[in-house]
Amino acid sequence: MSTRQYPTSVDVVIVGSGPTGSAYARILSERAPEATIAMLEVGPTVSNPPGAHVKNIADPVERARAQVASEGPGERGEKVASPGAAKAGVRGARPGTFLLEEGYAFEGEDGLPVVAMSSNVGGMAAHWTGACPRPNDSERIAFVPDLDELLDEADRLLGVTTNAFDSAPFGAIVRERLSAAVDEGRVDATKVQRMPLAAHRRDDGRLVWSGSDVVLGEVTRENPRFALFDETLAVRVLVEGGRASGVVARDLRSGDEHTIAARFVVVAADALRTPQLLWASGVRPEALGRYLNDQAQVVFASRLRNMPLLDTHDPTAGLAEYSGVSWVPFTDDMPFHGQIMQLDASPIPLADDDPVVPGSIVGLGLFCAKDLRADDRVAFDAEHVDGYGMPAPRIHYRLTDHDREVVERARQEIVRLAEAVGDPVGDRPFTLPLGSSLHYQGSTRMGVADDGTSVCDIDSEVWGVPDLFVAGNGVIPTATACNPTLTSVALAVRGARKIAAVLAREQVATKSASA
Ligand code: FAD
Repeated sequence: MSTRQYPTSVDVVIVGSGPTGSAYARILSERAPEATIAMLEVGPTVSNPPGAHVKNIADPVERARAQVASEGPGERGEKVASPGAAKAGVRGARPGTFLLEEGYAFEGEDGLPVVAMSSNVGGMAAHWTGACPRPNDSERIAFVPDLDELLDEADRLLGVTTNAFDSAPFGAIVRERLSAAVDEGRVDATKVQRMPLAAHRRDDGRLVWSGSDVVLGEVTRENPRFALFDETLAVRVLVEGGRASGVVARDLRSGDEHTIAARFVVVAADALRTPQLLWASGVRPEALGRYLNDQAQVVFASRLRNMPLLDTHDPTAGLAEYSGVSWVPFTDDMPFHGQIMQLDASPIPLADDDPVVPGSIVGLGLFCAKDLRADDRVAFDAEHVDGYGMPAPRIHYRLTDHDREVVERARQEIVRLAEAVGDPVGDRPFTLPLGSSLHYQGSTRMGVADDGTSVCDIDSEVWGVPDLFVAGNGVIPTATACNPTLTSVALAVRGARKIAAVLAREQVATKSASA
């Protein structure tokens, strides 16, 4: 039986401990150190410090245990280790994630067969690849005036670097070959380059991947007014007099429910479960769950030509130790985001008499931007519940004819890129089942007016429900093809600053009233 003490009242409740919820905790710890903060996370703590990336766990048995503990309630389906390992028709989740058991596709629609979530302290960012590219062209949110400064801040919070793989011996060669095929006519920002990654090298050379632990940082961990409650489900956001006033939290260890009053509530519970919690709380703006968009993904592999056999270092040291991670940015003309990285650290045998130079097979992935449609949505009803007893997400999702054309163009482009870097492995690229990107956006989108096409304003505050903020990829209003976490953390920074500013103003007012 749990003996945990939940606070009865705090300044800010944050639901979800992924990188966007953690960004709120960090900015508030820095800018409003007087504020009391309770972070609620439905999943368990699986790493140390809490929220750390499981790839940093050296022991493979411990790592596997952390992954399984992140995979939520219900059936554990088949696992696929890398996106390229998924075969058509196989509903496999990536380690550390779990799929919707039902309601992922409906008759006559494409659905999102492998839409996935993670339930653990740190959210999906305990399992992610850490690619943190900036949005370009129409991916950018034109109405956010300080977007670049917010992205800089997101880089800081996520610990983004571009030099983690500078010692990878094949990286420069891959980029040189891609550049020759792609760069003509592009501005510097959209030329082939090293992928910005939420990762850094320790002094001893070991690679450390950023998770929510890095976003939280020491300042949050040492903040005596911050507390994280794992295995705690936010069941409902309370709304009183039209304003958010707290949450009802269920301690999953004891089953007890607690009411936590709060001046502000931030829901950062992923692109399916943020709308779920709002819906369950009776907060149902017209755009809630709508404009859902995933990035259709095409993958292929290529064998680098004429590579020297290296006196290799330890191939277990990491996935991309040979060729790093390279980036072909999105442009409006080429509406795909390209990620090129080593496929496997160990040589893949092609034929007995054809030895493969270790690290010389690279995987290419192109993510496609989707047409935005209000009908693409995650919906809820009173009848279906998920493994936590919350309203179950039901996905309605269709690719448009234009979306299919973009995927077809991506298939052609990926063959061109594979031929530019080496000799394609296999005769044709593979289009992954929808939902594979793990980048779901739009379901709580930001907008400039409360006109039924958005859920929140530019500060992520929900229209019509003051003091309720939403965070995560669902807030991104544009159709991005690039990995979205940097952008959603940037948007979270703006919301957190707004809350910090209000709390600071109120504190001054209280002090001067009592003086
Ligand atoms: P999440 O990280 O999903 O965290 C949400 C948290 O909320 C979860 O822990 C969940 O348990 C909790 N929660 C939900 N409902 C409740 C509730 N009612 N009460 C309490 N808690 C609740 N993105 C990139 O940008 N680049 C990449 O290279 C990349 N690679 C990826 C590779 C993999 C294998 C995976 C799994 C993901 C990848 N992603 C990548 C996606 C990235 O991890 C997510 O975009 C990011 O974690 C989203 O952050 P978030 O804070 O919005 O949500």
